[in-house]
Amino acid sequence: MADYPVEEAGGRTPLQTAEKPSIDDIARRGRMGLLRTLRPGLPKGSDIANLIILGYDPVSCYTGRGPLEAAARGITVGGKEVVFRCNLITVEGNRVVDYSGDHIETREAELLIAELNMRFSSVGRFYTGVSYRNLFVSERGEGLRATPPHDIVGEEYGKHLLKPDNEDSRMLNRMMLESIRILSKNTVNIRRLKAGKRPVNMAWIWGQGRMPKLEPFALKHGLTGTVIAAVDLIKGVGRLAQMSVPEVPGATGYYDTSYENKARYAIKALEESDFVYLHVEAPDEAGHEGSFETKVKVIEEMDRRLFRRILDNAAEDVSISILIDHPTPVSVRNHTLDPTPFAVMKPGLKGDGLPFDEDSGRRGSFGLVDGMEIVKLIKNI
Ligand SMILES: [Zn+2]
Repeated sequence: MADYPVEEAGGRTPLQTAEKPSIDDIARRGRMGLLRTLRPGLPKGSDIANLIILGYDPVSCYTGRGPLEAAARGITVGGKEVVFRCNLITVEGNRVVDYSGDHIETREAELLIAELNMRFSSVGRFYTGVSYRNLFVSERGEGLRATPPHDIVGEEYGKHLLKPDNEDSRMLNRMMLESIRILSKNTVNIRRLKAGKRPVNMAWIWGQGRMPKLEPFALKHGLTGTVIAAVDLIKGVGRLAQMSVPEVPGATGYYDTSYENKARYAIKALEESDFVYLHVEAPDEAGHEGSFETKVKVIEEMDRRLFRRILDNAAEDVSISILIDHPTPVSVRNHTLDPTPFAVMKPGLKGDGLPFDEDSGRRGSFGLVDGMEIVKLIKNI
């Protein structure tokens, strides 16, 4: 939700433009501050930010995106194995043209993954995920440097293969290069070409690491916890921290998500858990799209369909905190390192009386808080 002032909107941010009475109600009754959720020198991603917010130091426990997604899907991984994210991508000539394989449908991805599993069983195992987001598990690849495919669209893929040169990288790079020939001949791509669509013709592996071990959330904080999320990365963090991670029907991680079900599951989870962590992805998507209007609309929908419901249905003694894992400003269309505004509303706590936005974050009585301290702060204040 966090952003920079936008000139065409009269110098206001999406948070300052949106009608959001319930979000502002929580902020006014609570205290505000700025939260540092990312660290210079580490990837500016949701994975890092959400680990930090839940109290886990990414320097010691972040190994890559692949293992977190595998944890979310309950995939069993051996102690010596490395988990890669595997994108199904589109290349033309010697260049990457689409990191998402035109958002390939999952049922098509399944067929391509089945073929990869047949051809490369001596190198590792592929797992189908959702659309272009799949996984690859192998005993090879520890310590290699890989490039995310969304960073090299338009560039020659040959320049961005796994490094440094050693036995593992040679074998895995050969697999990626061979996947072009193999996938191009798959019936999925023959059908796509006939239908005038671009082929999805390369398996690109990246984001790899061994399975991290996290101290259980309950031991770390003395609170039982539930994670309500649609995104695999966040669910993976929850599973590794041994929190409850229910599957919420209709939670998509996109604009069409069911805010109602997320609110309902969160309220229900409070019957069993001391702490419920509810994550919404949609404002981040609007930021990547670069759409101010969409971001404003998403914030208003969250206010009406999510925050209102939580305020109406949570018990009197429940504390509510609004956090932002990282900014995705519409002018940048990517994540930035800026600290984000946060609010904590707790029974008996005297509020700052400020609406929820970036300015209030700077003026709030908490000041600047390190992300790793936030659960402790909410619990103990
Ligand atoms: Zn994002």
